[in-house]
Amino acid sequence: MQVAPLPDDEEQRLAKLFSFGVLDTLPQKAFDEITTLASAICGTPIALISFVDRDRQWFKSRIGLDPSETEREVAFCSHAILRPKEVLVVEDATQDQRFHDNPLVTSDPGIRFYAGAPIVSDDGFALGTVCVIDRQPRHIDAAQQQALCALASLVVTLLKHEHSGREESERRAATMLRRNEYLTALSTSGLDLMSFVDTNYIYRYVNQTYLSYWAREPVDIVNRSVQDLLGKALFQTTKTFFDQALAGEQVDFEATIDFPGKGTRHVEVTYLPARDNDGSISGVIVRTHDIQKLKEREEQLRSTVAMLEHKTLEQERFIHIISHDLREPINTINNFASLLAEDESLGQSAMARRNLHYVQAGGRRMASLLDDLLNFLHLEEHALNLKPIDLNQIAEEVQEDLNAALQRSGGRIEVGHLPTTVGDASLLRIALQNLVANGLKFARKGVPPLVRIASKTEGDWLHIEVQDNGIGMHEHQLANIFEMFKRLHSGKEYDGTGLGLSICRRITELHHGRVSVRSDPGKGSCFSLSLPHPTTGVK
Ligand code: ADP
Repeated sequence: MQVAPLPDDEEQRLAKLFSFGVLDTLPQKAFDEITTLASAICGTPIALISFVDRDRQWFKSRIGLDPSETEREVAFCSHAILRPKEVLVVEDATQDQRFHDNPLVTSDPGIRFYAGAPIVSDDGFALGTVCVIDRQPRHIDAAQQQALCALASLVVTLLKHEHSGREESERRAATMLRRNEYLTALSTSGLDLMSFVDTNYIYRYVNQTYLSYWAREPVDIVNRSVQDLLGKALFQTTKTFFDQALAGEQVDFEATIDFPGKGTRHVEVTYLPARDNDGSISGVIVRTHDIQKLKEREEQLRSTVAMLEHKTLEQERFIHIISHDLREPINTINNFASLLAEDESLGQSAMARRNLHYVQAGGRRMASLLDDLLNFLHLEEHALNLKPIDLNQIAEEVQEDLNAALQRSGGRIEVGHLPTTVGDASLLRIALQNLVANGLKFARKGVPPLVRIASKTEGDWLHIEVQDNGIGMHEHQLANIFEMFKRLHSGKEYDGTGLGLSICRRITELHHGRVSVRSDPGKGSCFSLSLPHPTTGVK
């Protein structure tokens, strides 16, 4: 007996066969009709649809043969699938070298005649055969062979149909499963309280959230009537909502409810008509959505807005007082003090002139304090105007503005090359001017002040540094110099209001940056404005 060799593409062939999922399935009428036809066309007592598995041939349909499978080694079909395009015809197996000693020939079922048309998939894999068998030697003509081929190709069509049908129903089952899981999860563990009440006002379903809010067990609620649970009076009120929903209308309202398991909560309640597949109303779904937290947040927001409005009003009043009620009398004092000082005809004594000098100095201090205060307060209402800005130009403007201070102090300002960044030009100018002015002001006695403006970038940060050679500060003094009105030196030594650095800090904060300082007493200080610096897109 010759055992058929394996086809070259055996593994892919098997994979294709398995992908149809036909092996070991139940008999099907359509396949049985094919074998009936095959046996009638060829006049044989046996007809089979055989699929060649790894170690066996398995019959999807069989006529005139009992076993549902045989070993692959003895299968005639194993030979037939080696030539997918041909019908294998063995007219008398006893005369054929390949089969004369095959046990299917020498004993049951005693095969003499065999004709098998390969069942070939669209991509060319021979999966098995439609075959006819007789216990007598026999001949079939070309037309009969062609008919066998047609039946084999019908089997492929059936396989494909079955396969796509199976895929479709698997897909549908998976979708249903997902939907069911989703709905179950939604209704059992959702945040909303869900209940279903039937047309007789009986609770049929409540979810876990419902039970935990009402601190009840399912037996306390399910299958009990709404009237039982709520009492007659309350039922009369809620019955209106149920009846509206049972008439097909959705009812929504807000309420505050005392839940035994959760305390007092503000909730949104919805009564929804529940419909069967045919559209008829089968009951009411009551959904209760807890909006307590939302309400609390709304309340918080309302009171914050009210507080802010109040503060803004207060601030506006404060600004008005500074700019009018305080500023005007100070201006008047300063103007008249200047007039008095310039009027030689008054013939003032030295004492009077000194006193007048104090009045003028105090007036000037007061005026600049009010200016700084106004600047600081205005920062709060300043809408940040972020644009690409050339810091070289800002440094130049600062130098121009500080010309008088430069003359007075005999100092110098050196500016390194600065980049273009994104910021509010007018605010950054104020900040830089404050730092440079301090550098000129807090100079060491006898040492002409030198202020250097430079910059460096570190990743997404730009550090604008203002370094001076002035009196410097001790480490322990640095902690709170950025606080409002904080001064380390008296007005006698160095004039000022103690607001300059707090203005700098506020301006950098508005830019989401920070200001810092390093200092060496007797040597100088270096202030740094650190700002977020876009590394691309700034020209
Ligand atoms: P002002 O300059 O009006 O006093 P600032 O807020 O600008 O107020 O500064 C606060 C204090 O920090 C100053 O009074 C001074 O004591 C200290 N300070 C600021 N800049 C320098 C500096 N460059 N060198 C030394 N001390 C400084």
